[in-house]
Amino acid sequence: MDIKIIKTQEPKQMPNESELGFGKYFSDHMFVMEYEDGKGWINARIVPFGYISLHPASTVLHYGAEIFEGLKAYRIADGTVQLFRPMENIKRMNTSAERMCLPTIDEDVALEILETFVRCEKDWVPHSKGSSLYIRPYMFGNDETLGVHTVKRATFMIIASPSGSYYKEGINPVKIMIESEDVRTVRGGTGYAKCGGNYAASTRAGERANKKGYSQVLWLDGVERKYIEEVGAMNVMFKINGEIITPALTGSILPGITRKSCIEVLKRLGYSVSERLFSVEELLAAMKSGTLEEAWGCGTAAVVSPIGRLMYEDVEYVINNEQIGEVTQKLYDILTGIQWGQLEDEYGWIHKL
Ligand SMILES: *Cc1c(COP(=O)(O)O)cnc(C)c1O
Repeated sequence: MDIKIIKTQEPKQMPNESELGFGKYFSDHMFVMEYEDGKGWINARIVPFGYISLHPASTVLHYGAEIFEGLKAYRIADGTVQLFRPMENIKRMNTSAERMCLPTIDEDVALEILETFVRCEKDWVPHSKGSSLYIRPYMFGNDETLGVHTVKRATFMIIASPSGSYYKEGINPVKIMIESEDVRTVRGGTGYAKCGGNYAASTRAGERANKKGYSQVLWLDGVERKYIEEVGAMNVMFKINGEIITPALTGSILPGITRKSCIEVLKRLGYSVSERLFSVEELLAAMKSGTLEEAWGCGTAAVVSPIGRLMYEDVEYVINNEQIGEVTQKLYDILTGIQWGQLEDEYGWIHKL
């Protein structure tokens, strides 16, 4: 693929690494290309980061045709930069695109674009412990008409944001509220696609939980409000009587790459991992009988996030004395160890640049 590169004339300063936070600052450049029906993907370019202009009728503004991905570039001890399972993000992006009637991108071409862009921005990969360059590929429908149909024009972009450690003050277990009113998605809907619309629909419940002092919600399935699906924008896992349980990918759950990696690590460590329907009653029974040993969310941003308290119908349950559990800690150490190059990558997950 021919990628034109136009370098900025006004490079920015990397902010103080202790103040990065998440998603607040952006690197100097962005990748952009357009899709036109009959022509395919055209005008691949890396240009200075800046505003974009859209036709007021652009599909994305009216019908929400938008998908995205999220992955990190890590700087390891020798100063080089590496990615974690980038092909998984590319494959998932194409699955999301297919669901939203957006065009797909050839996997090898997408990987070449990602590598070229991250190489271009490599000085923006921070150096401090736990920090990384968060990479956000995204695609949106960009037809200049209000007619509703399969997208004929689309735009694909990648931006990057140097981000600080998720756990600046150590890993603190979070308080979660089980949501029994709003649902995130339903089977047959868009739950398995990483699309902006799923986020727009789930913000209200998150806000309500925040107001009550909880950091996120635990989602139940959209049909019966019975089976556990995800926690906030993370997948969720439980350890009950020594067994690891995580909701099966029924179609309304986002197939997380961290989830998949946790399962592979757990199996290699000899744990029994069950991907199945897991009801809220079963969870309540395990909390009441004391057999729930650990609960945690997993996703790229936090890696793992231990759950210390769970609230359901005005009753609050404490998990593992609000301490991070042994398995949660092990997963965190192994995944971050591989990502930051401190542990040998026995799985073939690391993609060096
Ligand atoms: C991105 C995302 C996840 C986590 O996926 P990872 O690939 O592990 O980062 C989980 N749930 C939702 C809703 C998501 O959007």
